[in-house]
Amino acid sequence: MKRRGAGTITSGDVGQRVLLQAWVQRRRDHGGLIFFDLRDRSGVVQVVLRPEDRPEVAAALAAARNEWVVEVEGEVTRREPEHVNPDLPTGEVEVVAGRAAVLSRSEPLPFALDGKSEAAEDVRLRYRFLDLRRPELQKNFLLRDRVTHEVRNYFHERGFVDVETPILTKSTPEGARDYLVPSRVKRGSFYALPQSPQLFKQLLMVSGFERYVQIARCFRDEDLRADRQPEFTQVDVEMSFPKEEDVYELVEELFARIFPLGGIDLPKPFPRLTYDEAMARFGSDRPDLRFGLEIVDLSARLGESGFRGFKETVAAGGVVRGFAVPGAAEASRKEVDAWAEIARRSGAAGVLTLRSRGGELLFQVKNALTAAELQGAAEALGLEEGGLALIVAAPAKVAATALGTLRLELAKAFKLIPPDKHAFLWVTEFPLLEWEEEAGRWFATHHPFTSPDPRDLGKLESDPGAVRARAYDVVLDGTELGGGSIRMHDPALQSRVFKLLGIGAEEAQGRFGFFLEALRYGAPPHGGIALGLDRMVMLLAGAPSIREVIAFPKTASATDLMTDAPSPVDDRQLRELGIALVEEDREDAKDT
Ligand code: ASP
Repeated sequence: MKRRGAGTITSGDVGQRVLLQAWVQRRRDHGGLIFFDLRDRSGVVQVVLRPEDRPEVAAALAAARNEWVVEVEGEVTRREPEHVNPDLPTGEVEVVAGRAAVLSRSEPLPFALDGKSEAAEDVRLRYRFLDLRRPELQKNFLLRDRVTHEVRNYFHERGFVDVETPILTKSTPEGARDYLVPSRVKRGSFYALPQSPQLFKQLLMVSGFERYVQIARCFRDEDLRADRQPEFTQVDVEMSFPKEEDVYELVEELFARIFPLGGIDLPKPFPRLTYDEAMARFGSDRPDLRFGLEIVDLSARLGESGFRGFKETVAAGGVVRGFAVPGAAEASRKEVDAWAEIARRSGAAGVLTLRSRGGELLFQVKNALTAAELQGAAEALGLEEGGLALIVAAPAKVAATALGTLRLELAKAFKLIPPDKHAFLWVTEFPLLEWEEEAGRWFATHHPFTSPDPRDLGKLESDPGAVRARAYDVVLDGTELGGGSIRMHDPALQSRVFKLLGIGAEEAQGRFGFFLEALRYGAPPHGGIALGLDRMVMLLAGAPSIREVIAFPKTASATDLMTDAPSPVDDRQLRELGIALVEEDREDAKDT
């Protein structure tokens, strides 16, 4: 007899004999009747056993408890109307056990799998093989499978070629630390795990593949946050001869195909904001556009006011900006203090409030602004009766970050984010370079292979900070889903950019010689994008963290609690690699 999925048994099967091989999710003894909920990947079905009628079956299952694997053969019958369970797809039927056997036993479980008693995450990760048995988690992986399947079909239909690129390779800088793998054969030399397949996909364009896609694993040794993992998966794409528009269209159509799998519908085309606009109006390069609270520049209006705080900031080249929150006029002193603290953490001196209450406009610093100035500011901010505006005076970048953070904070606090709304957008024209004060040099905002905007080429050496890049990010509800760029295909321009990044000719040759060389042999114009698959599946599944959509994830300290990786290795292995540990590292390794 062929095995049937527990969750597939319906009233259409009434009268049929079926074979189930599944896990015991629950056992209930009612004396004359014993019920087993049997679960497999397809779902759950109720099995009923009458020990009086079937003593041999009762004996076979006598010891069976939760998470034992059993085999039951029996007849599908209709449940009494009062016993129908409308919450269960199989709730109209039950299987009357006619024969049974235990296939595998289970020790008592370290935590219950019923999803009701949430176990601590470290216990779940330690026993991930059990955790993954929970239907709530399995559902995420079935969704992930559907998404990757759609992604592959989508790109295949459009003539993209799926090519694998090496894992043991040379450093590809994406702004994080590399994971290194020592070579045994070439002692003292190391491979780097790819932070992304960036250089390889560009090389494939030089090789004439024209359209490349890969569901690629990337490795970045960086400080981990809730939505980051040291190894993660990107849908990695590269095309020859593209314009930005081609990439936008490709991604929008892909999203139109996969986001409905999570019940998310999307507008096409997505709205677009340049980086400068996004920073000025929303204080973020990945703005959440599900709600308003748009930031307004008041510098021209208040820079000449009698209030010194504003006047001096603007005179020193800074800005006065703010946003209005409807219905927040009654915010408490404590709340305002907490918001000021947030602003201070972004480097601002604090925030100032302007309230519209009882037909009056109340600025935090009494008598600092004239009635006309208050009126003008309120109008510009769109501040209405019962509302509160937060105002920050600071250098532009500081004001943007402070207000951007506050904007999110207040939207959450005043429940201004509509639960079922989603907002996609493109952020374009990122700056090519960012100055890092500590290192005292320019860094690539995206990565060193992104093309400068041809309109700004003249400023490359004279005013590098003002050069825009042909780079773009796609954003959903304040989360960056992916980013990419049009690349440089001219080796001379690539060398110029390396130079700006402080990578001299010799170093460039050592690190990227193969790549610069390839650019000299007929490299086509090319560009692409990479989309974070884990993050997309997380959003589609409505999961709280990407760990819920990665089968065997690591903790915030990059450890796998199940396998215990990373772990110390034998001295013999180290000797073969020509590696000697510093004594204190050895002690550290033992402790952890
Ligand atoms: N390699 C880039 C990244 O991982 C994406 C791209 O430029 O295509 O962010």
